[in-house]
Amino acid sequence: MLNGKTAIITGAAKGIGRAIALAFAEKGCNIVLNYRSSVSEELVKEIEGCGVKCLAVKADISNFGEAENLIKTAKAEFGSVDVLVNNAGITRDGLLMRMSEKDFDDVISTNLKGAFNTIRHASGIMLKQRSGAIINISSVVGLMGNAGQANYAASKAGIIGLTKSAARELASRGITVNAVAPGFISTDMTGVLNDDLQKKMIDSIPLKKAGSPEDVAAAVIFLAENRYITGQVLDVDGGMVMN
Ligand code: NAP
Repeated sequence: MLNGKTAIITGAAKGIGRAIALAFAEKGCNIVLNYRSSVSEELVKEIEGCGVKCLAVKADISNFGEAENLIKTAKAEFGSVDVLVNNAGITRDGLLMRMSEKDFDDVISTNLKGAFNTIRHASGIMLKQRSGAIINISSVVGLMGNAGQANYAASKAGIIGLTKSAARELASRGITVNAVAPGFISTDMTGVLNDDLQKKMIDSIPLKKAGSPEDVAAAVIFLAENRYITGQVLDVDGGMVMN
């Protein structure tokens, strides 16, 4: 079903985005691998090793024009935009009382406005195609809130509203829009937390372990393949949030 399609994954040089890019490549998708600072030649080769094409495109997705260029480049190279995964994200943690305006704005710009920017440019192409799947990476923190992450939680809750609104607007043309809400996943983002905090987090997870980037990638693939699920949030969190 995904074989021969084009998948754009933002922030895909490492962590969850990297695993998502590899998972789509294994399904036979040509990959548009977005990165901000750098991407290794090994990753591009690993993706191409799946028998697909891989185009690495540098773009800061918080910038409207750079996001437009990313989507236009994908369309020009591969002729369609079938899957868009909004994965790029940052944290700038701190208690609300001491949080700088810049730290609030930076997180909203990348995590929330970045997803708007790419959807804004990809949706026109998908509407013309009368098909497409958009998957936005939210977080359990967007559902639960988290002390020290007001900016990040607001961005990830915003992603859910964006997802549901886009799902309603685009459904009539066969385009699905869903979110995945990961819990505690082992990547550089969580690796910066001290051992004590990591242990506390894991103790609070019913399955008593951190998730892997591949666990998240599998959920993203499921939502890209299923053509009758839209406007949903799929938690991949070892049971942290049970709705
Ligand atoms: P990560 O290892 O820090 O990777 C994030 C990636 O996003 C990096 O490659 C980064 O590129 C890229 N990026 C950041 N800002 C960007 C921008 N403006 N434009 C383009 N790319 C940008 O994080 P991760 O853990 O894999 O997280 C991936 C996503 O999952 C994020 O949205 C995160 O919020 C979400 N998530 C993660 C967890 C978790 O436990 N890890 C839990 C819930 C949700 P540079 O390195 O070049 O900046």
